[in-house]
Amino acid sequence: MSIYINRNITHNSPNTGSRKISGDENDSPLQVFVQAKKHINIVFSNIQSYVIDASERITDVSTKCPDLVTENELSSILDYTYKLKGIHEVLARNHMKVAFFGRTSNGKSTVINAMLGDKVLPSGIGHTTNCFLQVEGSQTGEAYLITEGSEEKQNVESISHLAHALNHEKQLNENELVHIYWPKDKCGLLRDDVALVDSPGVDVTPHLDDWIDAHCIDADVFVLVANAESTLMVTEKKFFHNVSKKLSKPNIFILHNRWDASANEPEFLNEFNNQEQVRKQHTERATDFLVKELKVCTAAEAPSRIFFISAKEVLQARLQQRKGLSASNGDLANDFKSRYMEFEKFERLFEECISKSAIKTKFMNHSQQGKDVVKEMFKIMDAIHNRSKEQIKSKIYQKEEFQEKLTLITQQLTSITNQMKMKINSMVYDVEKKVSTALSDEIRRLSILVDEFNLPFHSDPLVLNVYKKELNNYIEKGLGSNLRAKLSTALAMNMEQSQRDMVEKVSKLLPENISVVNPQLEPFEVFYHLNCDNLCGDFHEHLEFKFSWGLSSLVRRVSSLATKNSLKSRTLSSPTNNQSTNHLDQSLNDYNSHQSVVEENLPMISRLLAASLGTQGTMGGLILAAFMLKTVGWRLIVTTGTIYGCLYLYEKLSWTTKAKEREFKRQYVEHATSKLRLIIDVTSANCSHQVQQQLSTTFARLSKHVDESASDLNEQLELLDQELQSLVQSTEISKILKEKAEFLKENLKNFDKDFFVN
Ligand code: GDP
Repeated sequence: MSIYINRNITHNSPNTGSRKISGDENDSPLQVFVQAKKHINIVFSNIQSYVIDASERITDVSTKCPDLVTENELSSILDYTYKLKGIHEVLARNHMKVAFFGRTSNGKSTVINAMLGDKVLPSGIGHTTNCFLQVEGSQTGEAYLITEGSEEKQNVESISHLAHALNHEKQLNENELVHIYWPKDKCGLLRDDVALVDSPGVDVTPHLDDWIDAHCIDADVFVLVANAESTLMVTEKKFFHNVSKKLSKPNIFILHNRWDASANEPEFLNEFNNQEQVRKQHTERATDFLVKELKVCTAAEAPSRIFFISAKEVLQARLQQRKGLSASNGDLANDFKSRYMEFEKFERLFEECISKSAIKTKFMNHSQQGKDVVKEMFKIMDAIHNRSKEQIKSKIYQKEEFQEKLTLITQQLTSITNQMKMKINSMVYDVEKKVSTALSDEIRRLSILVDEFNLPFHSDPLVLNVYKKELNNYIEKGLGSNLRAKLSTALAMNMEQSQRDMVEKVSKLLPENISVVNPQLEPFEVFYHLNCDNLCGDFHEHLEFKFSWGLSSLVRRVSSLATKNSLKSRTLSSPTNNQSTNHLDQSLNDYNSHQSVVEENLPMISRLLAASLGTQGTMGGLILAAFMLKTVGWRLIVTTGTIYGCLYLYEKLSWTTKAKEREFKRQYVEHATSKLRLIIDVTSANCSHQVQQQLSTTFARLSKHVDESASDLNEQLELLDQELQSLVQSTEISKILKEKAEFLKENLKNFDKDFFVN
């Protein structure tokens, strides 16, 4: 957009009628107004689009960044859009207005027609203007009139038609205004946005004040059409006194019309000097009126406001030209040329005056209003711009804080996870060791537990089966409760402490508003899973009577003794005799396996002995008996035999249910011990696994809180990024709008410079 215009509109020297007829308006002073109007309209159109655009963009910004734009700012921008719409509409309608006053028949209508170069208004005897008539350019190119208070367009085809129409409107009163729209292409003044207002004679009404208020308050120029044949009348003067009271320094031109008639007066014909004297007298009086009475111009300016013309002649000449004839054709007086030139001089000065005045009165105020709006818009955009920069700063700071927090949480979580892993591993190892030791101890004390089992014993196989089942259950429960008593409390405390430790460490990573209360939701208890029924399912008791001094028993005892001795010697000869549990267990295992080998081989040895005693015994026994009889004597043999027999009897009699129960329990202990030893490792591993499970679950649950908090932070970071993006956009938008406001302010300043200076 460019509002720079070429203001070098110069005025050609008066050229009889050329302007009026050719319609070449480019050098008219009125063009300054036309250009000014065009440009201020462009400027305001741009300001209006700018404010509408700003309103949309800032509303959008306020939706995306709620704290950036205040309610006041938003409503101000909206107000400006309405205000500018109003100004723009007024500007588009603005035109230069000239009002003609004077007594009836002084020639007001004729002056207007002469200026328009056409017979637009009816004039002459028989027609009196009885209301206000405003002639202005028709936008449609058609001639029509609109009466006050009506929107009906009444077509006007010719001046007689108009006269008829006006006469028809008899009910029109003098204060009413009739708009006459005349094709612009017919009159240069109309094309240049001049509206000419004809009035009823000031002598016909006492309501002068009402006229001024109703139709003259916005007039840029007042033309007093006086009759050169008489002096200014009191009524005419009174009217302009009222005008100058209501408006400050109105632009008033005084036209002494009918100057042709004065020149043709008989007493003037041969007395050229007389006409000069009349002119001088009129000029002095008119100057006094303008300078001293109305004080609307200086004495130096007065000559450019007072003219002696003949509107009738000018109109006639211009109508001739319009027809393509010479201006001086017809019955025009020979000296009409000087009057014509004076009329043109009046027109030029009038045009300069009305154009300058109208630009000031019509546009100065609006230009100022435009500047105020643009200034306010600049202020608002500047405030939004600064606010958005501030918010960007604080959001960046917040983002950095969040990122640091996130990094710290991630690092610390990794470190705590490692610590916890180590701690869990050490606890698991510890628990495994403790359970293993405790179970070994319990296995060693198994015989006590078995002895305490007091269900009535019976060797009947059916009863014995039930007995074994009950014993298995009893042992399982007993072992379990003993282990629990030994380990559970310490273990539970340890677990609780470890979990508290976890909570404490993890809590430090969480925001203050999130607390991890009591992570141990259920009390921890270890299950030992000692299924004795299964373990000792293969136990088979041997409760048949065995004489302890019987040959097979002796053999077993001897072999057992030998095994024990060898075991002892092996244990003693071990290079690392350091009571190591592992070695001891190993040795015990070796012992067991050795014993089982012996037991397996025992029947074979017994059989061998029996066989040797049986087969070779017949001869041998006889030889031994003969040899014994011979060496120790038969008494000793009998005695020994008796003792042996008594022993056998004693043992046979002692082999009661109680003894059987004892033997049963011994065998059971032996069997269960060997079986339970096999599951020490599995059980302790199982317990430690439970501990590991519990601790790992707790830590995983706690870590989940940290993960959630970290993902919250991530979400907040994403939100911050979005906010930052919107803020950056808002900063850009407010900057552009600020610059645009500055540019529009410059445009208005240039407009002022172009049209208001001088
Ligand atoms: P208004 O009532 O003031 O509008 O006056 P008009 O324009 O209707 O003119 C009244 C009469 O004066 C008409 O007959 C005109 O022809 C005549 N008249 C107007 N101007 C001149 C002029 O300059 N010289 C002469 N001789 N007659 C004029």
